Formats: sequence, structure tokens, C-alpha cells
Amino acid sequence: MTFISPALRSETQDLAPLRMPLSAAERLVALETGRSLVKGARARADERPYLDAFLQEFGLSNQEGIALMCLAEALLRIPDDETADRLIAEKLTSGNWDSHSGRSDSLFVNASTWGLMLTGRLVELPDEVRSNANGWLRQLTQRASEPMVRQALRRAMKIIGSEFVVGRDIDEALRRSASDASLALCSFDMLGEGARTDADAERYFDAYVKAIEQIGRSKANRNTGLDRSLHDRSSISIKLSALDPRYTAIHRERVRTRLIPRALELARMAAACGIGLTVDAEEQDRLEISLEIFAAMASDPATRDWSGLGLAVQAYGRRAMAVIEHITELAETQKRALAVRLVKGAYWDSEIKRAQERGLVEYPVYTRKCSTDVSYLACARALFAASDRLYPQFATHNAHTIAAVLSLASARREAIGGSVDFEFQRLHGMGTLLYDEARRQLTSLPRVRVYAPVGPHADLLAYLVRRLLENGANTSFVNRFMDERVSIEQVVSDPISEIETLSDIAHERIPLPTGLYGASRLNSRGVDFGRRSNIEQIQQCLKNTLNLPSPESRYVTPDDVEMAFNKASLAFLDWRRQPVAERAEILERAADLLDQSRDSFLTLLATEAGKTAADAIAEIRETIDFCRYYAAAARQLQGAALVLDGPTGERNELSHVPRGVWCCISPWNFPLAIFTGQIVAALVTGNTVVAKPAETTPEVALAMSDLLYRAGVPRDVLHVLPMVGKEFGAVALRQSTLAGVVFTGSTQTAQWLNRTLAARDGAILPLIAETGGINAMIVDSTALPEQVVDDVLSSAFGSAGQRCSALRLLCLQADSAERILEMLNGAMESLVVGDPTDLTTDVGPVITASAATDLERHIERMCERGRLRKRTALAATTGAVAKDRFVRPALIEIATAKDLDREAFGPILHVLRYRTEELPQLLEDLRANGYGLTLGIQTRLDGTRRTLFEGTLAGNVYVNRNMIGAVVGVQPFGGTGLSGTGPKAGGPDYLTRFTTERVITINTTATGGNTALLTLE
Ligand SMILES: Cc1cc2nc3c(=O)[nH]c(=O)nc-3n(C[C@H](O)[C@H](O)[C@H](O)COP(=O)(O)OP(=O)(O)OC[C@H]3O[C@@H](n4cnc5c(N)ncnc54)[C@H](O)[C@@H]3O)c2cc1C
Repeated sequence: MTFISPALRSETQDLAPLRMPLSAAERLVALETGRSLVKGARARADERPYLDAFLQEFGLSNQEGIALMCLAEALLRIPDDETADRLIAEKLTSGNWDSHSGRSDSLFVNASTWGLMLTGRLVELPDEVRSNANGWLRQLTQRASEPMVRQALRRAMKIIGSEFVVGRDIDEALRRSASDASLALCSFDMLGEGARTDADAERYFDAYVKAIEQIGRSKANRNTGLDRSLHDRSSISIKLSALDPRYTAIHRERVRTRLIPRALELARMAAACGIGLTVDAEEQDRLEISLEIFAAMASDPATRDWSGLGLAVQAYGRRAMAVIEHITELAETQKRALAVRLVKGAYWDSEIKRAQERGLVEYPVYTRKCSTDVSYLACARALFAASDRLYPQFATHNAHTIAAVLSLASARREAIGGSVDFEFQRLHGMGTLLYDEARRQLTSLPRVRVYAPVGPHADLLAYLVRRLLENGANTSFVNRFMDERVSIEQVVSDPISEIETLSDIAHERIPLPTGLYGASRLNSRGVDFGRRSNIEQIQQCLKNTLNLPSPESRYVTPDDVEMAFNKASLAFLDWRRQPVAERAEILERAADLLDQSRDSFLTLLATEAGKTAADAIAEIRETIDFCRYYAAAARQLQGAALVLDGPTGERNELSHVPRGVWCCISPWNFPLAIFTGQIVAALVTGNTVVAKPAETTPEVALAMSDLLYRAGVPRDVLHVLPMVGKEFGAVALRQSTLAGVVFTGSTQTAQWLNRTLAARDGAILPLIAETGGINAMIVDSTALPEQVVDDVLSSAFGSAGQRCSALRLLCLQADSAERILEMLNGAMESLVVGDPTDLTTDVGPVITASAATDLERHIERMCERGRLRKRTALAATTGAVAKDRFVRPALIEIATAKDLDREAFGPILHVLRYRTEELPQLLEDLRANGYGLTLGIQTRLDGTRRTLFEGTLAGNVYVNRNMIGAVVGVQPFGGTGLSGTGPKAGGPDYLTRFTTERVITINTTATGGNTALLTLE
């Protein structure tokens, strides 16, 4: 059974059928019960667990909460003391810790606060910290020295950590579960980031296997007796992302052959052990593929009689109800019982961000908390309606949600005249007081299972941060639950009533991804790879074959260049007079036309330039953004003259007027985006253009110029002349009508252009040059290795390394280098290098066979200076592309930055190690090569980030993310030094360089006196 996502609709339309999940009477009961629970819990505030108190005290709204989150996220993984000390010092000086001291009766808050008060006095958290708080606090004020502070803080973090995890391994967790009544019924979760390598996936799989066996055998589970329901036993939760490093919808085949068998094996083991197994819900992008895996698990005859298979469903997802309906049908057709854990969803902020970055047409999640709450209740009702097959599990810490679910349960009981089996779930360390209170007040409270993370402290960081983020938010129930400043009526309110008061279901301050840039321009539309229909459509475009003529057959002659300049200079006379608004409209029309022609450009880019789907889509989007951004920028620049302040009786106006005929020379690595960006910037400001596209990619350029003509650019205003660069340059640069040159390509050619222009007689012409760089990423030991590896892979090997912004030199702090290198090795192993028309391909060919040969030579040369750490394999088939155009990604370790003295424009990554004290020298070495294009920084230390930013020549600096894919208008792009002249493409100053400034000063008193002054009242 396949899950097909419902068609895209507005948020209002999606929520409309769910708006009334409770009857009026049920709503009233839910409100009363919820409020009574909060009231009861508040009366017992002194019993609240450490964590609740802690989360309330250190929210996201205070600096200390954020500093603490930073520390918690990074401290435990830092291997070297020096960096740990710097992080501690930095984060602690950024907060006012005294203000928290003693604010809560909870020892935990006090312990952490004191642990965090690094003020020269200080701080040790001995083991007896919990048992002898007073004695411990006295000690704090008596001792002081850095190692102690560090030790204390590490321990403080572990204390925080131990509040979130039940054990460092499954044995410890089970021992705790057996001895602690509040942890008797758990769903154990093995912590960790998603697998980045096959080895990770195997490790996680083994951990799950071991955990399932142990949970099945555990004393606590045996005590429940075989006659009792499976749901009375502790169970396991698994993350599919832990089972394969390529768990995405695009890698469907691999998921089928590798991940599904693993998932089936775990399910069979859980069934054999008689325990439940729930598949956690992860990103919305993975929803469809997760349902495919789940369907395979649910259709397995070997486990049909086992009722423990479960799936988590996120109510914030706008497809949630469709998912519930799908699972209900799956249970029916497979004639088996399934469990559904209903959650609201843990990744809301990331979902919103990702959708904006990708330019999705709609968000996959609701944008208001009350919509999620209503969706949750609607899904809950649907689960009860299907409770003959489904076992509902409600995961929440929200009193109103608990109360509303209970009232739905009682309605269901009445309707069927019998009992309904279901449970609540809470996270370990949270919601204890609330559920205790519910148990006290309500006879109908069913079993409550605890989601129990298991793992070493260093692995809990990401989890911890997610919980802090989730609960620190102002909209979070946990954040306000015990806060006496917030009335009980506010804490427990009816989300349905809230929805009724809204004029628009979509949040007014969260624009749709396409509306990100407000009224000035539309964001380009991206592709939602979470929907199979899109994937299939893109795959089809890639597979369409095009028989392109040879590039040479398109080449024009030097005479054509002369003719083009003549025509362009004549056309300039009219074009410059065209109102800027009309020129801008042409660009916007071009953007819309390109959006409509996306599929054909996708095919063309894949065929002519060997682009992978992801790269081609990104390039088309960038082109559209250039058109819209420059249209808006030109309106602003040339819409009206700037009136300048001055003495009365005089009018001074500054205007930007076009220069004349521009020569635009673009490279093959972005045959669409850079080609178009240069041209439209010149055109929209009123210039005419003679453009030379790259020798190897004339078809893309010609297709785009056709599109520009269709959008309204007159033919004589734009001339596109494919030919050999040198021949073109020789003719173009001697044209007397030439008014400026814009160029992207090699530094040598830029220098030739510069010298040739300088040697001309007559006017001094502007040159805008964007060239290459030896781009580095500096990674210290505070960085998260998994994130580093993700970002390195995309920065170094994306687009087969053929981006000028690509990462060439990875600089790793020696203390954490080996761990990152190992992970990087493993992750490179699963890179797919091959046919660009296959959607699963990560690294396509380089532009020509001779480029590949040069790159291989570079690899050989660098291996002589250093050591080859890794080369990936080439796929067995490379489609229509000859094998000699492929360069298998390489990782080469070198000793110093000086060893890398030239840019190698391909998938070759050099890596070096540095010690902290060598950082200034490293920065010096990087500057010494003269390039300044991009720099990546991965650190949690603000001080390091500032030092590197100040010390680098790089025009674009990226912190804790990848360093490619600059977005037009968001990250204006361009380098300094040998990397370019500026102004930055896609930035606010770019258009001015295509114009000259003119000022007119009019003596307004000359014709009859200063009337404006004389009539002043
Ligand atoms: C046992 C258990 C298992 C879990 N398993 C998973 C899992 O597999 N996958 C997963 O993603 N999460 C999982 N979670 C986390 C869960 O999603 C969060 O704990 C839950 O969202 C918090 O909801 P609440 O009812 O406790 O709190 P509330 O404070 O009532 O709700 C907070 C939630 O509302 C939503 N929200 C907040 N702001 C907005 C907004 N502006 N627009 C729309 N929605 C908004 C978010 O989902 C946020 O987490 C699990 C939680 C538990 C207890």
C-alpha cells in the first residue's frame, strides 16, 4: 500500500475539515479538567522534578538560557581542556547568572546555577552534590582554579544530561527501570545523530538488536507476566535515519534493498521478544518514504500476529490526518493491530526554515501552535474511531491535550458501549508532576509510558538542545505551566476557540516561502523532494534525451563580434530611454517564463553541462532570483533621481545613467545563472550587451537568450556570441563603443582583461571580475562532527567541486581531527559518483575529459606532497557520459596551507591539522595565497569566529554551515584580492557599477527668484 500525499492546498483549506474535533460539551470538560490539573500541580510545586524547574528558569528568552544551551550542546564533546575553558569563559561571561541564583527551591536550578557561576570563586560539583547541598554550596565559595571550574561544569552538564537520559547504555537503563517505579513502563530510545556512514548504521543497528533482546529479557518486563498485554511492557523506539546514511526519498532503491531489510529484522526480533517497537517520526521530507518502510513492516506475514508495531505521527504536519487514514487502512488490509504514537512534532522551527530555503509553495507544517493543537485533537478522534485496529498512544505534556484526549476517550467508550485501550506517553524528566496529578485526580487515566533516551552523555547533545528549544519557547506548555505569573486560564485554553478568532489560519508573521522577500520580489520556487510525484517528474526530465549539436557548430566569427557591437551601440540610444519600470518588467517576465520552462532547462543543464538534478534546480532558482532582484534594485536605483540636501534656491539631483555597450563573459560552471546574472544587470540599468557564453555550454546560453527575447528584450539590445574566448576577447576589447566588461572566470584571464583595458586609449572602463579562490574551512574542537561532515561533503564535492566557492582546504584542529576524518572517510564511501541524469547521483562528471586529466595530475602532485586518505569509487554505469569525464572525489592530507598553491577546480579536498596555538599562523598562510573568496568556520566560540572574520580576506564567510550556494540578495557574493574586484553579485551595490553617476544642479532662483523660500509660512 502506497501513501500518496494529498494535493497542495492552503493552510486554511487543510485545517478546515479538522476544525471541530470536540463537541461543545467535550470542550468544556477538557477545559475544566485541564485547569484543575494545572491548579493541582502548582499547589505541589515543591515536588516538581529538577528538569521542569530548570527549563522554566533557563528559557530561550534569557541570555543565560541560551548560553547554557550552547554549553550543553558542545562542552562534553570537546576533547581538549584549553578549548573547553575558552568556551566556558565565553559563555559564562555572557550571562547574568546571579539573577538566577536562589530563584528556585529546586536544588537542581541552584546546583546548575552555582556550577555555572564562574567568577573566580568556585565551583566543584562533587558526587554528593544532591545529598548535601548546603555543604556543597559552602565549598563553592572557598575554592577557585580553572581546572576545577572546567571539571565542575562538565559535571554540571552531566547532571543536566542524566536528567534527560535514563542510562548510558541499555543495561544501566534497564537496571534503573527495574528499580524506579516511575520508569517501569518505558519506550527506550537509543540516542545519537542519524547515521553518516555505513559503519554508523551498523553500529546503531547492533545497538537496537542488543536493546531489543535485553528489553525482552528484562526482569521488569518478565514481571508483567505473559498473560498481560504487550502494551504493559517496556518497548523500543527506533529512528530510521540511524539505519542508513542515505535514508531519503531520492534513494528509494537503496532504502528498499538496505534499510527495509534492517527494519524488518528489528521488527521480527521485537515480535519474537514480545515487546513493542515504534518507528519515530522525523523530517516531513521523509514522511512518504517512512510510510513506505512502515508499510513493508506492516505487511510482513512473519509478524502479523504481533500487535506491537507502531508509528509516530506528527500532528503539526499538514498531512497528519491523511497519514492516520492511511495507517487505518493498512491495518485493515493487513488484518493486524498497529500502534500509533501521536506527537505534535519536535522539529517545527527547522521545518519552517528548510521550507523557506527551498522555496516551497506551502509549508509542510502548520504555522500556528493552535492549529497543531486542533490537528492533534482531530487525529486523536480519528485514532479512537479506529481503535478496534489501532492502539492510540498520546505523547504530550500539555494538560489541556491530556484532558481533551480523555474526554474523547470517554465519548468513544459511550459510543461503543465498551472499553478502549490506549495510553499516554511523556518524555523522561518531563511531565512527571502533571501526570502524577492526573493520576491523583482522574480515575480514568490509562497507563503512562516514558520515552526513555539511552546513550553516552556526549551523544545526548542534539537531543538535549531539541528539548531545550522545544520547551524554552513561549508557546510551549511546559514553559508556562508552573509559572505563577501566567494565569491558569492562559495556560489551559481551548485551541478551537482560538482558531475561531483568527482571520487567517496561516501565521501573519510567517510569510509563505515564496513570499519571503515581501513586496519587493517573489522568492524562486523550489522542489519539494518529500513528495514522490515531484521526484518522478524531475527524474523524467533528466531522462529526456537531447541531441545537442557540437558546441563548435554554434561558434560565430570575429566579424560577427564587430557587427554585434555596432548594432548594440545603435540600439543603446533607444534602450537607454526606455523607462526603468519597463525594463524591470521584462526581467520579471523572464523570471516567470524561466519558472514555467524549468523542466526543459533542467534537461538542458543535465545534458550540456552534466549537472545533477539538485545542482540544476538550484541554478535555475538562482537565475530567477537574479532577474527579480535586479528588477527591484533597478527600480530603486533609477526610478527617481536622488534629491540631495543643500542651500535653498538650488536643486541638486543625483541620477544613475547607463554606460553603453557591456561585454559579458561568463563561465561554464554556471552556464545559466552567471550568464544571465551579468546580462540582466547590464540590461535593466539601460545598457546593451554583447555576451560570450562559455565555449562548452552555448546551448544553455542560447536557450536563455531566446527566453529573454520572448520576455521583451529587443534583439539588437542583446547579442549572444558563442566562440573561443581568446578570439572574442581580442576583437571585443578593441571596440571603441565598449563601455565596460563583466567577467567571471580564471584569475589569469581577469588579469589579461585588466591589462588590455588599461592599455586602451580613451575613456577608462570599468571591469567587474569574479574569479576563483583557494577556499578553506576552519574547524575547531567545539564543532559538531556530524554537521562538519555534512557541510564538508556538500561544500567540497557538490557540483563535482566545480564552484568557485567550493571548499578546497579543510583545516581541522588536531584534537578532534581524527574523529572527523574517520567519519568523512565513511561518508565519502556512500557518495554516488556517476550518471548526472540519475537522481541519486551526488557527484557528476567534470566539464571535459581534459579537465579531468588535469585534475588527476593535480591529485598525483599533491599526493607526492601529502598523503591520499580516500578516493571514492565510480558507479558501474555512467549513462551517456564518457567515463573519462569523471574524477572520483579525493581526500588528501597535507602538512601546511602553503602546500596548496593553486586552485584545482574539481572534487578534490585537501585537509590539514593545526594546533590551537597555530591558528594565527594558519590564518596568515591563508592570506598569503592572495585569494579571498569564501571561508567556512565551524566553531561554537564567538571569539574565534570574530578573529577569523576579521583576519581573513574572504569576501563571503559562512559559520556553522556549508559554504556554497550563496542566495541572491541574501548572501551577496564575490571575493577580494585575487578573487575579484567586487561589487558583489546579487548585492545592493552591483547595479551601480553598470551605471555612471550624474548630478544636475539648478539654480532655481535664476528664473524669477526663490519662490519656495518666499512663500514659506
Ligand atoms: C513519548 C514521546 C515521543 C516522541 N516522539 C517524537 C517523534 O517520534 N517525532 C517527533 O517529531 N517528536 C516526538 N516527540 C516530541 C514531541 O513532538 C514534543 O514533545 C511535543 O511536540 C510537545 O508537545 P506537548 O503537547 O507536550 O507541548 P505543547 O507545548 O502543547 O506543544 C508544543 C508543540 O507545538 C508545536 N508548535 C509550536 N509552535 C508552533 C507553531 N507556531 N505552529 C505550529 N506548531 C507549533 C510543536 O510541535 C511543539 O513541539 C515525542 C514526545 C514524546 C513525549
